[in-house]
Amino acid sequence: MTNPKALLDHFGVIPKKSLGQNFLHDPQALEKIADAAELMPEDTVLEIGPGTGALTAVLAQRVRRVVAVELDRRLEPIMRLTLAPYGNVEVIFDDILNVNLPELLGDQPYVVVANVPYYITSAIIRLLLELPHAPRRLVLTMQLEVAERLIAKPGDMTLLSVSAQFYAKPKIVTRFNKAVFYPRPDVDSAVARLEVYDRPPVDVPNADVFFRVVKAGFGQKRKQLKNSIAEGLHIEAEAAVALLEAASIDPKRRAETLSLPEWAALTRGYHASVQSP
Ligand code: SAM
Repeated sequence: MTNPKALLDHFGVIPKKSLGQNFLHDPQALEKIADAAELMPEDTVLEIGPGTGALTAVLAQRVRRVVAVELDRRLEPIMRLTLAPYGNVEVIFDDILNVNLPELLGDQPYVVVANVPYYITSAIIRLLLELPHAPRRLVLTMQLEVAERLIAKPGDMTLLSVSAQFYAKPKIVTRFNKAVFYPRPDVDSAVARLEVYDRPPVDVPNADVFFRVVKAGFGQKRKQLKNSIAEGLHIEAEAAVALLEAASIDPKRRAETLSLPEWAALTRGYHASVQSP
């Protein structure tokens, strides 16, 4: 018995919408996700939210070690059954946003593969990309709308787009019909792959100062950059205008229109100004 609905019914588990519990029951969809991860037999995979263990089992057949972090303890008896044949799977019952990942994963390279709970997709992406020991690659099934934000271009950028494109090269691999899930979600889904860079594609003094500037820019929704940068960085309006102009950015533009190289130029100018005021 591997069908999620049959398993959940058998163990009397009612899916919780609040935990983003939409289980994949299409074997082809599971294979597509695992294929997108281009796994090697010696790989370690971190899976977030293994659920009934359907994707976990596919991953366990392809790699050396799978570490799966699941919040919902009600799923433990189901996974004990479905994952019994796989001695290379460790299931940890905890919140992915709180668990000590460096302790779990050590210093080995790893890949993240997950059908993520939609309510914390952005938080998970930022958490993983910002880790000192980040994954080599992320293959995440998520809401189509969030996947589109990852690959957004100047004009539609968000803090998530900037952060995804600063740390990785994101791509939408495939889209999924709602019918591949039980229960069916309200929204369309896509599989996104993020190839994590060894170093960012733009030249900045460090990630902290870059995100201080980017967060300031996005801090005031729909405000012109001269205002959001002044407020977010706690500097005078004239100083914000001067920084923007020095980076060849019209101070009346809005955060969503800036490209990564423009954010980087602004960051370099800001960093220089605080180094030698
Ligand atoms: N991987 C399974 C599949 O593909 O069928 C289940 C995917 S379901 C979209 C998301 C899973 O994440 C659920 O099992 C849910 O309980 C789990 N989850 C929700 N919030 C979590 C959290 N904060 N930490 C870890 N797992 C979480």
